[in-house]
Amino acid sequence: MKSNYEEVKEKMYEACMKSGRALEEVTLIAVSKTQPIERVIEAYELGMVNFGENKPQEIRDKSKILNHGVSWHMIGNLQSNKIKYVIETCELIHSVDSLNLAIRLNEEAMRRNLRVKVLLQVNISKEQSKNGFEVEELYECLSELSKLRSIQVTGLMTIAPYVDDPEKNRTHFRNLHEVFIDIKGKNIDNITMNALSMGMTGDYQVAIEEGATHIRVGTGIFGIRN
Ligand SMILES: *Cc1c(COP(=O)(O)O)cnc(C)c1O
Repeated sequence: MKSNYEEVKEKMYEACMKSGRALEEVTLIAVSKTQPIERVIEAYELGMVNFGENKPQEIRDKSKILNHGVSWHMIGNLQSNKIKYVIETCELIHSVDSLNLAIRLNEEAMRRNLRVKVLLQVNISKEQSKNGFEVEELYECLSELSKLRSIQVTGLMTIAPYVDDPEKNRTHFRNLHEVFIDIKGKNIDNITMNALSMGMTGDYQVAIEEGATHIRVGTGIFGIRN
């Protein structure tokens, strides 16, 4: 894991150099889904502090054990009845894929007197199998989202298609970055565009070159999942 981590950091640095960005602009999220807590602790001891999970119960359980000096990120499909497992512990919920989920999160956050940071998941590649807002739909929802005062929309997220050549995803990343900049420029109340979560093991360098602020790397750090 140590050498994997070194390699990821090196490649992040290269991508930043190539695109004239500062390394500090990019947050590495170690995707620890399916990994036992011992492996997550090992990662923490190597210096990783941001962890991504796609199952609400896994965040609940792991965050009880590892609860100091780390941030948990919800990156998977979130059903309304499981909001309670993540709302108190997550630094950022990346996977808000519908207005309805945003409304439910807002209700639950209000009840608990919280203000929850979320990203809107966008289906930029228009894959049938992918969750997320279509771009047009996203624009239509912005004014409704801006009224939800117990959540704060802080950016966008996408899951690009699985590809053999990362260059094939460059256009998707570029398109999402354009939407990100466009929405930022609208200065909508309660909607800030600070975080752009895109890029996984196969394509994070390209994502960084196209403006990612958060990359989500699982296999590249922990190895192949069972
Ligand atoms: C599993 C997962 C990742 C990490 O995928 P790798 O290819 O292992 O890096 C990133 N983002 C999401 C949403 C995931 O579900």
